[in-house]
Amino acid sequence: MLHKFRYVNPGDRSELLDLLAENGSSAKLLAGGTDLLVNIRGGVQRPQLLIDVKKVKGFQGISWSVTDGLVIRPGVTINELLRDATVRDKFSLLAECAHDLASYQVRNRATVIGNIVNASPCSDMAPGLLCLGARVVISSKRGERELPLAEFFTGVKKTVLASDEILERLVVPAAAVGARGSYRKLKRIQGHDLGIIGVALMKKDGLISLGISSSAPTPVLVTGLHEGDAEEVLVAASRKATSPISDVRCSKEYREFMIGTFVKRLNREVK
Ligand SMILES: Cc1cc2nc3c(=O)[nH]c(=O)nc-3n(C[C@H](O)[C@H](O)[C@H](O)COP(=O)(O)OP(=O)(O)OC[C@H]3O[C@@H](n4cnc5c(N)ncnc54)[C@H](O)[C@@H]3O)c2cc1C
Repeated sequence: MLHKFRYVNPGDRSELLDLLAENGSSAKLLAGGTDLLVNIRGGVQRPQLLIDVKKVKGFQGISWSVTDGLVIRPGVTINELLRDATVRDKFSLLAECAHDLASYQVRNRATVIGNIVNASPCSDMAPGLLCLGARVVISSKRGERELPLAEFFTGVKKTVLASDEILERLVVPAAAVGARGSYRKLKRIQGHDLGIIGVALMKKDGLISLGISSSAPTPVLVTGLHEGDAEEVLVAASRKATSPISDVRCSKEYREFMIGTFVKRLNREVK
């Protein structure tokens, strides 16, 4: 049974920031609810107040410009990202990650930012966003701060966000346009399932980046690799950066093996 909580639906950003500042850790932001409501139902989280982000003026939509890059706001769902022509044309790696997240029905509710803030090690959006050099813009009544997504995750389902802060924008820099990349997710079944592992590989300007999920307490970014590096170098770098565990889905050894296999396959496929 659900415990009792209050629900508010602010239309205004400053109202939302006031509510967060006044209620601290007893409040939770609600986007699609596909993680939060499951946790509340399971008794994992017991917030007293849910603050809906979806109706806040200015929190909807994706925008693109050469100066600001690709800007993803709190209300943007996974399916909205998949429908976006700029994403499909210029950031196809993101579209591949999004397409592998859950089912069509879940993607209709689930937001990109909710997936990032949930900070699950098996997040499907994180590997592509990490490779693309995404940045997070975090706001509170105290002001705004911006940092690389790679510095946002601090542990399993833990981030740098304080209780009065919101992740207001995800920004993929325009410099990432022209990158070639692809995402592979290993699952127990053909249909939708959380990943056993997920690997994104991106090539740009002679460099290679890897984004790897389900292989460490947080999604992992590997940089400093070059096109032309031997496969063994790429595999060794992925091995060094990750620390997979054995769990209900598979063994640590299988994860290690499949990360290496996907890195090699992607390196051959991404031209
Ligand atoms: C059946 C099912 C299958 C799933 N399969 C997958 C899968 O294959 N891959 C995968 O990666 N995930 C999967 N998920 C998890 C989930 O759908 C995603 O993580 C989703 O993107 C979360 O977004 P949301 O909008 O629903 O977040 P919510 O549940 O609304 O919020 C998630 C967390 O983020 C916080 N939050 C939300 N927005 C903000 C914001 N702007 N600023 C600060 N905090 C915020 C909330 O307070 C909460 O703590 C699955 C979930 C279900 C139920």
